[in-house]
Parts: sequence; structure tokens; C-alpha cells
Amino acid sequence: MEVLFDSLGLSEEILKAVTEMGFTKPSPIQAEAIPSLLEGRDVLGQAQTGTGKTAAFGIPALEKVDISDKRTQVLMLCPTRELAVQVTEELRRIAKYKKGLKLETVYGGDSIERQIRSLKIGAQIVVGTPGRVMDLIERKALKLDFVNYVVLDEADEMLDMGFREDIDTILESVPDERQTVLFSATMSKPIMGIAQKFQEDPVQIKITRKEVTNENIEQTYFEVKQRGKIEVTCRVLDAYDLKQVIIFCNTKRKVDEVTEELSSKGYSVESLHGDLRQTQRNQVMAKFRSGAANILVATDVAARGIDVSGIDAVINFDLPLDEEYYVHRIGRTGRAGLTGKALTLVAKDEKYRLRQIETYTKVKIDKGVIPTFEDIVGVRKARFISQVEEAVSTGDLDLYEDMLGMLHHTTGFTTEQIVAALVKINMGVQKSEFADNDLAWDADRRPSERGFEKRGRFEDRGGRGEERGSGRFGDRGGDRGPREGGGPKRNEPGMVRLFVSVGRKDRVQPRDIVGAIAGEAGIPGRVIGSIDIFDAYSFVDVPERDARKVVEAMSGNTIKGKMVNIEVAR
Ligand code: ADP
Ligand code: MG
Repeated sequence: MEVLFDSLGLSEEILKAVTEMGFTKPSPIQAEAIPSLLEGRDVLGQAQTGTGKTAAFGIPALEKVDISDKRTQVLMLCPTRELAVQVTEELRRIAKYKKGLKLETVYGGDSIERQIRSLKIGAQIVVGTPGRVMDLIERKALKLDFVNYVVLDEADEMLDMGFREDIDTILESVPDERQTVLFSATMSKPIMGIAQKFQEDPVQIKITRKEVTNENIEQTYFEVKQRGKIEVTCRVLDAYDLKQVIIFCNTKRKVDEVTEELSSKGYSVESLHGDLRQTQRNQVMAKFRSGAANILVATDVAARGIDVSGIDAVINFDLPLDEEYYVHRIGRTGRAGLTGKALTLVAKDEKYRLRQIETYTKVKIDKGVIPTFEDIVGVRKARFISQVEEAVSTGDLDLYEDMLGMLHHTTGFTTEQIVAALVKINMGVQKSEFADNDLAWDADRRPSERGFEKRGRFEDRGGRGEERGSGRFGDRGGDRGPREGGGPKRNEPGMVRLFVSVGRKDRVQPRDIVGAIAGEAGIPGRVIGSIDIFDAYSFVDVPERDARKVVEAMSGNTIKGKMVNIEVAR
């Protein structure tokens, strides 16, 4: 039987908000958890990322909270700052019509004084990381005496991060008369231990793997020599026309290496691993979300639970050591009904792990053919053709229309030669560092595909000059110079900060701002720098040379249906 949101007995306010959010029906975990939680039961749930856990524990919390009481009634613990912020944002959207509700997010790496001040004003729902919650309890800024609903989100991750003791202490400080919700991707002994100690006869929910491995994800693997992995990554990025990608590696060292190699080849890459400070993690995520960086290279732990929509592929640079990680990783793509790709690079000594993953997920992963150098050149030519089409259809060519005649006249070259030279200037010298049949591990036995065996490298991909090539992976050959990690800082040379009169209360997200500016002003989204969204307004960095165009194009326009005023920030 199909469960609908309106059969769950929710209030008008919540129903209206989830409908606006585009939720047509509850996800399996929501359909199971929400009724039990509304009844007052504890819930112990096992489910992977992307199954809709936030609304599953969030909707009942919002229904139960007493708005007239300013005291903290709900406590939600998340492993990282991103997840805490993500949960809060989702709750804010669901609580859009619940007037008077106050949510507070608390986490390390941000001023504790500010958090203390906010808590003083009163927040019915507090979302935070265990470490900071402990600090705030110790400082008596966070009082748990009236908490009657506690959530442990991504509990296994919190344990992996060493929060076991903090969790114990926190749960011991919450009154016994309460509901406890525990969600975890895996059900290990320690997790069961926490459930036994802190839950009462919980309703157990398990969203089976079958519902988790998403059919929208096309899974492919490539047999690649270890040293050919970077080259194959580049070829795959180019050949599949991927716009937003997460590349997973097993170790921080590999993350650094891959990030460095890809940015030296001109891709716009950011990396995420455990050693980053919170502010750095934020910058990285903001850039990736806004599309200012197209590729995020990450370790499993650092990327756990991150929800970014519109990721068109996940690349497994290494095979994960744990089969469950594979499921987690590929779950980042193919979300919200969109299709996605999971592309896995398999070195010879990793093949057995691929088999283990297939056995575990009960899905056969297709073997892919590494795009040949010729394929890549073909793709680039096709993109060049569409760029030419676009340039001609948008007009303004009068200034240049006499160029062919001038070139003929002054150089005496043929039209073919002239066009080839222009294409070369635009796309760079195209060579491959590897012969095609030097990439795959059984390649020696394969006839050289299409007999194409040029050596060299994709030189110049990130070189000087105009924007070039596909125009997909930002930055490639742009004028921002080599990337040094981090994002464009506030007032980065050449950037101007603009004030935009819409913010979080208008449900504006970075992608809305990027979309509106890019669409209206006709500038590429990738040149847009950092974006900070506040409650009532936002700031966005744009290149100095585009600032005027942006301000003019946006005046009188709307973002998320709201009229905006946009001007250079003071
Ligand atoms: P999890 O915590 O299980 O990883 P989230 O709660 O972050 O998953 O939800 C993943 C995404 O799915 C979010 O963008 C969320 O808004 C969306 N989502 C959640 N529930 C639904 C639903 N019932 N219908 C459509 N989208 C949903
Ligand atoms: Mg989650």
C-alpha cells in the first residue's frame, strides 16, 4: 500500500512545507519511522545516506515541540559540522510555517560565545556535534532538563570519530522520560550497546540494501593500471561531460595526490579530508555546492552524509576497503530521481574487491572501455562545434567578420589550415601522456584500438590564454591562475563582493544565486566566487569585470520568485 504524507496525521503547517519542498510521498524510512515516533516510541533505524532520515526524525520532532515554551526540548547530535548544518537547514525548510520555532546549530570551530548568546535567547531545538554540546553543557549554556526527544544521527560515524564517551555523558544528562532516535548506516556491536543502554524497546527499522542501491545509478568499472589512474580519470571526466563529480580515495595522502595532479592539469578541484579545519571545510563545501568547483576529492569519512544535489558522477579512484563504503559513495549521485554514474577504477590487485562488492550489493557492475585519446579529441571537437554555434547565434560578430579574408590575404593559408590553427589555439595542444593501450592492465593482449598511439600529454590544458575546451571544468585555462586550495577569499584580487537582498528566509541556496546571476548576466557560473547566505540577505563574489553587468542584469529580476536588489557591498 502506498503511504502518503497526508495519511501520516501531520499538521497543516508541516504538510504545506513538505509539499512545497517537492516531497510527493514519504521515503520508506519516513513511512515507517514517522508514525512510531509520533506515537512516542523509540526508533532504532539502519539506513544509508540519502534515504531521507532527516525528515524521518525531524518531522515528529517539529510536531511535538511546544512553541510556547522557549526551553530546549529537542537535541540532535550529528558527527560533523556540515551534517549539523545540513540537518538544521532541512528542518528550517520543514518548519517554514511553524512560527515562533527557534533552532540553533552548535559545533566546534565557531565562536562558542556567539553560540552561548544565541542559546540564552532560547532554542527549542538544538542540533550539534557531541564535542561542542559537551562544552556547552559544561559551561551551563545548554540545559537539557526539559529535553524529551534526542536524536543520534549517523551514530556509527560519531563512534568512529571517538565521540562514544561524550555521547554517554550527554545521554546521561537528559531526563529518562524522553524519546531516543538512533540512526546509523551500520549496526555494529557498539551501536547495539548504545541502543540497549539508552533506548526503551525501540521500533527497529531497516531499510534493506535493495531499496538503497539506487537503480538510477549506472555502475561501470575500468581495468586500469595503477599509474594510469589519473589519466583515465581525466579521460572519463572529459568523455562523459561530467559537471559535478566526487572522487573518492581511501587515504588522505591519495586525496592530496589526486587533487594536486588534477589541478595541475587545469581542472577546478577542491579536496575534503579529516585534517581540514572547519572553516576550510566550509569553504570547500560552499565552492562545490555553488558549482565554483566541479570536482571534490574526498575520503570516505570526510564526505560521509554530505548531501549535494545534482552530482552526476562518483568516481572511485581506489576501491573502498569496506563494501558498505561503496554503497555510501555511490549514493551521492542519482539522487532525487536524477540519473547518476558510478565509475570505478580497478587496478589488478583490486579486482577481488570488486567481486566482493558485487556479491554484497547483488548488482553486476558493467565493465567499461577506457575512452581512447581519439574519443577525447572527438568529444572536444564536438564541444567546440557547439561553442561556435552558440557564438554565431548570439551574434555580435560584425567586428570579426572580415577576419577570414584578412587571414587569407596576409598569410596565404587555406581555410582548413586557418580553422585548424584557431581550434588549436582554443583547445590547446592535444597529446596524451599515455598510449591508449598502456592504460588498461590486460591491454598488452588487446589490439591497439583504432590504431591510435600518439604519445605525449594533454599539454596546455591549464595553460594561459582564453577560456578553452569544453568550458565544463571551470578554471581550465581561465585567467584565475593556479589554484592554491581554499576558495576565492573575500575581496580576492579581481573579485568584487555584491550584496543580494535575499537570504535563507527566502529559501535561497548558493545554486539559486549562481543560477540567477549566470543566467541573467550571461557569465559562466564557475567564475562566481564565494557565497555567504545569511537570514535576510547574502553576499556573492563576482569578477570585477563582470560586476556591473551583474548588477544591471539583476536589477528588477527575481531569485526564487523574490524581487532582488543587488549592489556592490560596502
Ligand atoms: P539522509 O540523512 O538519509 O542521508 P537526507 O535526509 O539528507 O538523507 O535526505 C536526502 C535528500 O532527499 C534531501 O535533499 C531531502 O530534501 C530529500 N528528501 C527527503 N525526503 C524526501 C521525500 N520524501 N521526497 C523527496 N525528497 C526527499
Ligand atoms: Mg543525514
